[in-house]
Amino acid sequence: MISTRMKNLHPYVPGEQPKDRPYIKLNANENPYPPCKAVQSAVIDFVQNNPMKLALYPDPDSLELHAAIADMLNKTGGVLCNAVVSGDEVLPSAADKIPFTVTPDMIYSGNGSDEVLSFVFYAFFDSGKKLVLPEFTYSFYPVYAGFYNIETDIVPMKPDWSLDTKEMICRAKKNGSGIIFANPNAPSGIGLSRAEVREMLLASDPEQIFVVDEAYVDFGGESCIPLLAEFKNLLIVRTFSKSLCGAGMRLGYIVANPELVNYVTTVKNSLNHFPIDAVAQVAGLAACKNPAYYAECAKKVRDERDSFVSFLQEKGWFVVPSRTNFVLARHPSVSGADVYRRIKERGILVRHFSTPGIEDYVRITIGTHEQMSLLRAAIQTIR
Ligand SMILES: *Cc1c(COP(=O)(O)O)cnc(C)c1O
Repeated sequence: MISTRMKNLHPYVPGEQPKDRPYIKLNANENPYPPCKAVQSAVIDFVQNNPMKLALYPDPDSLELHAAIADMLNKTGGVLCNAVVSGDEVLPSAADKIPFTVTPDMIYSGNGSDEVLSFVFYAFFDSGKKLVLPEFTYSFYPVYAGFYNIETDIVPMKPDWSLDTKEMICRAKKNGSGIIFANPNAPSGIGLSRAEVREMLLASDPEQIFVVDEAYVDFGGESCIPLLAEFKNLLIVRTFSKSLCGAGMRLGYIVANPELVNYVTTVKNSLNHFPIDAVAQVAGLAACKNPAYYAECAKKVRDERDSFVSFLQEKGWFVVPSRTNFVLARHPSVSGADVYRRIKERGILVRHFSTPGIEDYVRITIGTHEQMSLLRAAIQTIR
């Protein structure tokens, strides 16, 4: 009954979402803080006062949302934790300031960046050309490659968990293919500087797509948005799920040259004309208009991360240097599976991957101060 295509699917397995016991969830890199009050009231107002808008189709192109996203990026420089906040006003840090104005026609948005990524795969990666991927990166990339029947060329990590950027460029050129990676990368947490990504772009084929997934950049990476002025093949994917406290809202977006945005819009209009429902559009709009709140959340997460890293290092753990809202870390003697289990016994979920090469590690999402105190107490008992 099922298609050959169906037989070959290997779906992504997300972090556990337990329904029974109320675990503290530090396993899916969600934000521990709720969306700002303005998001909550915008949704309540919408449902109470505009019920007819639920009966009608939403704006298929989310134009108001795109204008708000562009505005937020211009105001914050695209790295929330560095943004300079005074009251409700936000300015980009000197290092992050974008040297041009991001315009709404440079934005495409979709039902979570997962959907956005799938459309990017469809639009730009050819099945005949091996797509270059780092060995350890967001595990949805190989899943999409399988879905669209795109062969992959996997580049091993360097021993310190950083990307082998030279090798990636070299293979992309040889394969005549595009390239995709997350920056900062997951699950390592390591970020490349903008200058390093620029070096990669200068060395790559300008006729091939170059995708940078900035899901975590707001927690301390360097955004590549300023490079869009120089490279027409650069496409940046970002999400509301991590730094905008909105994993449940399912909103992700692209920042790129309008020409690339148009290609992805064509894919959308051939697969799912209305990817963002009316409520999510209202919620996303309110979030973008309150960057000060989210900048404060990102700063709290960054500070909590830095003190947690020091704690782990004092306990003798090996910690991969993180610019994100999670850390990849290894206990000096206890296995990753055991660490995961012992922490779970104390009511806290972290992520353990059984893939060879990473099985000694756990990936821990940074939570609130209270959650991290409980986690520290759980970790104290592991020796
Ligand atoms: C979480 C994550 C995403 C998915 O984000 P959604 O917008 O929730 O679909 C994409 N890329 C990376 C690297 C992520 O970690």
